[in-house]
Amino acid sequence: MGTTWSASVVDPPADAEMTIRAKLDMVIAQMSNWDADSVISRFNRQPIGAWMTLPVEMMTVLRTGMDISRLSGGAFDPALGQLVGQWGFGPHVANEAPACGSAATSVEVGDHGARRLADVALDFSGIAKGFAVDAVADALRALGAANFLVEIGGELRGAGVKPDIQPWWVDMETPPGMALPPMRVALSGLAIATSGDYRRFHMAAGKRLSHSIDPGTGAPIQNGVACVTVLHDSAMMADAWATAITVAGPGKGLSLAREHGLAARMIVRTDNGPREHLTPALEMMLA
Ligand code: ADP
Ligand code: MG
Repeated sequence: MGTTWSASVVDPPADAEMTIRAKLDMVIAQMSNWDADSVISRFNRQPIGAWMTLPVEMMTVLRTGMDISRLSGGAFDPALGQLVGQWGFGPHVANEAPACGSAATSVEVGDHGARRLADVALDFSGIAKGFAVDAVADALRALGAANFLVEIGGELRGAGVKPDIQPWWVDMETPPGMALPPMRVALSGLAIATSGDYRRFHMAAGKRLSHSIDPGTGAPIQNGVACVTVLHDSAMMADAWATAITVAGPGKGLSLAREHGLAARMIVRTDNGPREHLTPALEMMLA
């Protein structure tokens, strides 16, 4: 899905690497928009109104995506695939402005499947990496591994400690060129995800076009947010919230984070340089 992974496993069980690869293959086979035969790609080609049975993992991601969409007032939208394509960030370049409609009204989720109610396309790129990190972590634990750090495209989850009994220390990502003091967190039983405007963006007419799209305007965000980092028990939740808060922006995004007790950091580009905001839950963790 256009990203890389790595894992550090202390005393790795014999089939650790094979198990990790199998989990990642499963996520790609279900949720990659880059693979025309994946379940998500087939779902997106289903006739409008037709139900399709979906694998349990995909149902989990879809339900969580719909929940975060609702909780974020639509800032997160797992059904904005066509907009992503229109702005050139997905596998398909759409030329005409897509029919808009939020996930809340354009996708119906049943017990074992879902259907499109309008011509929208699911895109799990803002949540699937986190889900994959959790899936890999759960699989490693099931094999008996207790101490590891798993990373996919900048989303990480740590369990236990390093061989030297130190926790898995991780520095929060900072946009390149920003002189901010490093912020180090210990990832023991915790996941971290960062959504940023510097990993993937296009330049157009001298302006940075973020790959975070505001479903409200149908265009890349222009709210000054350079990045949002979220710490959470679940990498999937950290990933989705980081995207949601980024899109919701400095005002609404930070109040959402506070309201949901999230440990989050936001860096905003201002005329006077970068401004950093920490939620109370994060400040407590750092204290
Ligand atoms: P990264 O970790 O790479 O910075 P994110 O987790 O924020 O990325 O995911 C960005 C991707 O999510 C985009 O490339 C796009 O496919 C999708 N996306 C963009 N805007 C939204 C949104 N408002 N809600 C859900 N997904 C989005
Ligand atoms: Mg995300």
